[in-house]
Amino acid sequence: MKKLLFANWKMNLPPEGIAQFASAMAGARGDGIEVAVAPPFPFIAELGAVSSSAGIILGAQNCSDKASGAFTGEVAAAMLRQLGARYVILGHSERRQYFGESSSLVGQKVRRVIDDGLAPVMCIGEDQETRDAGRTVELLRRQITDAAAEIGHFPDELVIAYEPVWAIGTGRTATPQIAAETHAEIREIVRHLAHGCALRILYGGSVTPDNAEALAAEEGIDGFLVGGASLSSEKFAAIHRGIASATARK
Ligand code: PEP
Repeated sequence: MKKLLFANWKMNLPPEGIAQFASAMAGARGDGIEVAVAPPFPFIAELGAVSSSAGIILGAQNCSDKASGAFTGEVAAAMLRQLGARYVILGHSERRQYFGESSSLVGQKVRRVIDDGLAPVMCIGEDQETRDAGRTVELLRRQITDAAAEIGHFPDELVIAYEPVWAIGTGRTATPQIAAETHAEIREIVRHLAHGCALRILYGGSVTPDNAEALAAEEGIDGFLVGGASLSSEKFAAIHRGIASATARK
C-alpha cells in the first residue's frame, strides 16, 4: 500500500498562495507516496484547478453525516466528490473538542463518506491526562468501537489518523517508539473488529521536516497527517523527502 502524506490546512491558507504551493509540490511526486491536501471548503475548487497537474489528491476537512436536505451550514460528502475530493478527514480532535463530535457521530460520517464514494480519514487520539493515566489503549478502543458500531463493514480504503491531542500544534511530537507502539495497538483493535481490512494508519501531531524521517522509518506508520508544517510547501516537501528516504532504507 502506498504511503499517504496528508495536509490539513484547517482554517488557514498557505501564505505563498494555493497555486504556488501546488506547483512547488509538483516536484515532490513519485516514490510511491500519495500526497493529499484538505483546504478550507471554499478553496477546494481553487486547489482542484491545479491539483492534478501537481500530483495532489484533493481532500476535505469534514462533512455532514446526512446525504442532503435542510441542514443549514452543512456540506454533503457527495458535493465534495463532485468537486473532485477523494478523501475526507473526520473526527479531528478539534471537531471533537470544539464542536462536540462524538465517536458515534464520527462513525456515521465515516459511513456516509464511504457510501458516497469517498475515502474517510478517521482521527483518533488521547489527551495528556489519558496517556499519563495509562489509559490510552482503552480510550482508542472506545473511539474505534463506538465509531465501528455505526460504520458496519470496514472498507479497505479506511485510513485512521492517530493524533495524540497533546502533540497537535504543540511542537511535542510522539517519539517514533510511542507512535509505532500505538499504531500496533490500533491495528490489533481493528483486526479484531474487521479481520483482513487493509488499513493504513497515519501519525499526526507536530510532524516537521526534522522528525519525519525517524517517524516514517518505523514499521506500521503509513504516512502523516500534517497541520502547521503543511502550510509551507518547503516544509511539506521536506517531510515528503523524509518519508521517501525512510522508505528507501527499509
Ligand atoms: C493536525 O491538526 O491534524 C495536526 C497534526 O496538526 P500539527 O501538525 O500542527 O500538530
